[in-house]
Amino acid sequence: MARTIPRTAQDQANWARSAPFLAFHLVPLLALWTGVTREAVVFAVVAYIVRMFFITAGYHRYFSHRSFKAPRVVQALLAFGGTTALQKGPLWWAANHRAHHRFSDTDQDVHSPLMGFWYSHIGWIMSDRHTATDLNAVKDLARFPELRFLERFDWIGGVVVATASFLVAGWSGLVVGFFLSTVALWHGTFTVNSLAHVMGRRRYATTDTSRNSVIVAFLTGGEGWHNNHHHYPSSARQGFFWWELDPTWYVLRVMAALHLVRDLREPSSEVRSASLVRTGCLDVGMVRAHWTKAAAAVASSRVTLGHSVHDGVASVGEALAGTRAGIEAKLAAERETLEAGVASSLVAVDAYARLLRQGRRSA
Ligand SMILES: [Zn+2]
Ligand SMILES: [Zn+2]
Repeated sequence: MARTIPRTAQDQANWARSAPFLAFHLVPLLALWTGVTREAVVFAVVAYIVRMFFITAGYHRYFSHRSFKAPRVVQALLAFGGTTALQKGPLWWAANHRAHHRFSDTDQDVHSPLMGFWYSHIGWIMSDRHTATDLNAVKDLARFPELRFLERFDWIGGVVVATASFLVAGWSGLVVGFFLSTVALWHGTFTVNSLAHVMGRRRYATTDTSRNSVIVAFLTGGEGWHNNHHHYPSSARQGFFWWELDPTWYVLRVMAALHLVRDLREPSSEVRSASLVRTGCLDVGMVRAHWTKAAAAVASSRVTLGHSVHDGVASVGEALAGTRAGIEAKLAAERETLEAGVASSLVAVDAYARLLRQGRRSA
């Protein structure tokens, strides 16, 4: 998707601060020297799956959306498990994610693909705009000292996994089982912010560009049903139907049976059949995305007829020059009308989206 929401200076990548993050991506190349053992590969796969679960069930469905309840010990374990994925602490993660839902695909969104695909995937992490944690957005979590501790020492989990990978499978274990697995885990998680807003189908007329994608669901243990999720974010279950693969949900069900967690929220049949695009609900998220794109195209355009076939022929070119100037002046006037029209359409669609969100919150 083309970039259509302009970025500010704060959105630019801070290369110096991002250097360790980028260097981390190169470490797996050391496998050329260490070799790739079977133990290391097994460790990498298991570490990917387990840590992805802690991100999806813990950081996302529990801490960001409170979609189920957990005793305090389990809550702390979910937080610690989340830190092993090296995606900062649970408070930072949840605060940014709650902002994503509050401002999806507007200029206040944390990671909208409307600001550029790569920005939504990785650029927002490399920028300085989102390094701080908005504690006001996570007051419910910040009151637990153990969560504040894990927030402050968010690297401990990573060190534990790195040490385990070395003890289990030696140098190859460290390089492949920890570093490569972590890089894959990062980008797997990031696809929810990037791909799941541009690839797949839209079942629900949400006010954002979220989509349902089985590929993203496969990579992320069930987070690919992102349009379902934006439609009903407080659900612990994201695959709304049995055929929508959602391993995180299956594990949560088992944990509930073992009384480790409780009160898993699920969408009712009314929720599942509300706001369907196919029944004619205005797909305001896509309409807004198209107008945003149109507004950006008009704003960045200039009025010119371009190169004429007569430009090289002096006598004909001169005769036509006056006509061209006249047409270009009229085009400039029409362009202004167009710009005003697009801007007012955008205002109308924004107002529609706001009202819809308000209505759904109170429903
Ligand atoms: Zn989203
Ligand atoms: Zn969410």
